[in-house]
Amino acid sequence: VSFNSARFLISASRLDECPPDDGVEIAFAGRSNAGKSSAINCITGHGKLARTSKTPGRTRLINFFSLNREHCRLVDLPGYGYAKVSRNMKEDWQEHLGHYLNDRRCLRGLVLVMDIRHPLTEFDRMMVDWCEHNQVPLTILVTKADKLKFGQAKTTMLTIAKELKQQQFVENLVMFSATTKRGLDETRDILSQWFEP
Ligand code: GDP
Repeated sequence: VSFNSARFLISASRLDECPPDDGVEIAFAGRSNAGKSSAINCITGHGKLARTSKTPGRTRLINFFSLNREHCRLVDLPGYGYAKVSRNMKEDWQEHLGHYLNDRRCLRGLVLVMDIRHPLTEFDRMMVDWCEHNQVPLTILVTKADKLKFGQAKTTMLTIAKELKQQQFVENLVMFSATTKRGLDETRDILSQWFEP
């Protein structure tokens, strides 16, 4: 597949608004502000495919992007923990995302985006556990690596790898930066393989 071919397809606020559950989907999850939109924009080579400036109303939507191969889609899941959402909206969000994650048969793998300065938040651990439990392949992008000195970034990666090995499985752990494009080729390779039949 060519990631540069990504085009906005549809936004869904409920499961029954999603495209038909066929083909292959790769979904992106992350805490709000982790750098998920920037990562998606970087991978697809689009400046603004996933909006980098958010409004509260948009955070709840699941956004689908089609690729050049039929029925291959990238999915931008709502960011978790938007600062201004109320408790109710959080519950809403969890239920909403839960439906997608639990019911979507064409979900081939999950890309979890986390900020290298705030790795493995409670939400991240929940997603890792969920992937392990449901045997969904997981790639973790540890992004904004450019915010740390390389040595520091390396040490953080090792710490994360160690923590994950003790408790859970994870298929790929990539040091990433949307700013410098570090890890971009590796990430595209991983996702391309997931799209192979
Ligand atoms: P999202 O809420 O997870 O979609 O996060 P965004 O992609 O909107 O990014 C949140 C903030 O972090 C924005 O100000 C981005 O410009 C910034 N950001 C995202 N990725 C990077 C990165 O790789 N390096 C740096 N330095 N800043 C980044």
